[in-house]
Formats: sequence, structure tokens, C-alpha cells
Amino acid sequence: MSEWEDLLLFAQPDTLAIRAGHTRTNEDEHSEALFLTSSYVFASAEEAANRFSGQNAGNVYSRYTNPTVRMFEERIAALEGAEGAVATSSGMAAILSTAVALLKSGDHVICSRSVFGTTTVLFNKYLQKFGITTSFVAPTDYAAWEAAFTPQTRMLFIETPSNPQCDVLDIEQLAAIAHRHDALLVVDNCFCTPALQQPLKFGADLVVHSATKYIDGQGRCLGGVVAGAKVLTDEVLAFIRTAGPTMSAFNAWVFLKGLETLRLRMDAHSANALELALWLDAQPAVEKVFYAGLPNHEGHELAAKQQRAFGGVLSFRVKGGREEAWKVIDATRIMSLTANLGDTKTTIVHPATTTHGRLAPEQKLEAGITENLIRIAVGLEDINDLKADLQRGFESL
Ligand SMILES: *Cc1c(COP(=O)(O)O)cnc(C)c1O
Repeated sequence: MSEWEDLLLFAQPDTLAIRAGHTRTNEDEHSEALFLTSSYVFASAEEAANRFSGQNAGNVYSRYTNPTVRMFEERIAALEGAEGAVATSSGMAAILSTAVALLKSGDHVICSRSVFGTTTVLFNKYLQKFGITTSFVAPTDYAAWEAAFTPQTRMLFIETPSNPQCDVLDIEQLAAIAHRHDALLVVDNCFCTPALQQPLKFGADLVVHSATKYIDGQGRCLGGVVAGAKVLTDEVLAFIRTAGPTMSAFNAWVFLKGLETLRLRMDAHSANALELALWLDAQPAVEKVFYAGLPNHEGHELAAKQQRAFGGVLSFRVKGGREEAWKVIDATRIMSLTANLGDTKTTIVHPATTTHGRLAPEQKLEAGITENLIRIAVGLEDINDLKADLQRGFESL
């Protein structure tokens, strides 16, 4: 047992977020060490042979293993309540690696219509090229999920709450549906992070993350991670070692630091987002607000059951169309006009022409990405400054 592993037996999540995975070197450093090395040396030719063959444990090359990346993987596994975790170079690399490692030509995937736009393109265009087909279904229409199964269905893929409409999907119910058909349920837990939601506890088989978002928390590094049962994550690891979408040690070190403050930040993001959603809901220029923290949101009760808080992302429809949405966005002075989210800095974006711009018009319509929709990833600035920023936009109409 390494020096931290007994923590898993008794420590609470807030302690695990700070201490799980931390293995010290002989230098007795207090903070996690950053191992910027591409390869590792061996004491003898025999030892090299034994490490390469896998007979002896130990590092060989950083495409395979790196101690800093390992610490990040152990910490994520502890927080998600997973047996294993594998870090990747980005969130998309986590999704791609999961699909390629666990699916083969002829297999079928059922994916929620309300997922990250690039995820849709990955399944629809690239995995399709290799004979993996995907059906997209309305996220909360569970009869449609059942109806979409074919004898070849091997995987269900969801995000909850979804981007950008904040649909809340019932993880427990979808896990039961998946398992009745011998399929895996994969949950993209990017919007909640393990600080707010642990999908494995509700029966999901794998969790994927874009660590780029809240796990970093300050918009610096790209990364991703896959967590779940070791038999599954070992398959993903085998693919990553071979194909190379490995997480950089530097990024892993930044993410380790991010995890230490994750819950505090997620609580603060959630509090700011809830206050902004309530305020937006009362604005005459706003047609509809999408945020699961609002009692009038369809998924409110389910979100309250699955999540510790409602998260930092909301969207709303301004009265009018693209012109009005762009006017509101362009009138802001504090919010950053950028597609990233999960940052201390609030970001604002027009999904129909950016994050979801590559979707066909009917796909946009099905996913609720209308021309008057604006997404805000609420940061940690003063909430009154954020309200005033949007007020400027509404006054410009
Ligand atoms: C950003 C994002 C991704 C992709 O992550 P990258 O790190 O940008 O590759 C996947 N899923 C969701 C929900 C995201 O927001």
C-alpha cells in the first residue's frame, strides 16, 4: 500500500481532493512533484528487459506512465469512486479513446442529442467511417432510448446536465436500460465534476471528463480523463499507450492543483449561476432561462437528487433572433466572448454560430439550439457586476 492509499478507507471527499494519489519522492517535497521527463533509466540491461516485458513494475516512457500523471489519475479515481482512471490529452481524446478501445466495427451507439457539439461530430462523422454507427435520441425520452436499441448496441453516451440546454438525464434509469441490453453507460461529467455528481454511484460504467474545464478551473491547460472499473480503464490505457493521446505531466500537475480547490469553486460557481438565473428569469427581454437550479426547470427535482448543487452553466433565449442575441453579447464589457467554460472568468457565447455551428440545421433544432440562445458559464466575479453587464446588453435592444 502506498503512503496515501489507506485514506480511501476513511477520508472524506474534501480530504481526498487534496491528498489522494500523492506519492512523495526521496526529496520529501510537500507539494506534488512535477516529473517533466519523457523516458526513465534502468539500473541494468536485465532490468530494462523486465520493465519492457511488464515482468517488473516501473516507468518506461511517459507515453505509458508518468508519476505526476499517475497522481492525477489516482486522485480522480478516488473522487469519482472509481477503481481506475486514465488521463488523456483532452476531453475529446478521452471520448475518442473510450470509443476506440471498447467498440469495434459493426457496433452501435445510442447518444443523447444534447451533447457537446464536437462529440456529435466525432460519433457522426469519424467513428462512422470505421463502421461504428450512432443513433441520436431526445435526452429525456426514455422510451426513445429503449426503441433505439439494435442487437449491435454496445454503448450509451450522455451528458447531464447537458450543454447548453441544461437537460437533466436520469443516470440510474439509463444505466438500468443499458445493462438490460448488455451495453455500457458512459457519462460525460464535465459540467458537474465529481464535486457535484458521481455518476458511477448511480450505475454508470464509465465517466469521461474534459479536465480543461472546471478541473483546471482557470482556463490554462487541455486534458481529459476516463474513470470506471479497471477492466474497462485498462482497455482505454492500452489504446492510449499505443495511439499516444497521453496527458502532459505539466498539465497533470496543474489539474492536481485544480482538484484541491474544486469543491469550493463548484459551490461558488453554482451560487453565482443560481442568482444570475433567477435574475434573468425576471428580465422582460428574456424569453426563457435554462438552468436546473430554477424550480420551474423540468429537471429540477432529478438534478437535486443526482447533484450536490446545480453547477455554473446556464443558457437563455433573448426575445428576438440572432441579431438580438449578438447585440446582448457584444454589449457586455466584463464577460469574455469565448467558447471555453469552467473558468473563474465568466464566458458568454452564441452556441448556434460557434460551439454548435457545425451541426446541420435540423440537428440544431432538435437540440434546442435556436438563434436567440445565449450560453453563459458563470465565473467567480462579483454577481452584481455580471448582472450589470447583461443589463447593458438588454438596454441596447
Ligand atoms: C469541452 C468539452 C468537451 C471536450 O473537451 P476538450 O478538453 O476541449 O477536448 C467534452 N465534453 C464537454 C461537455 C465539454 O464541455
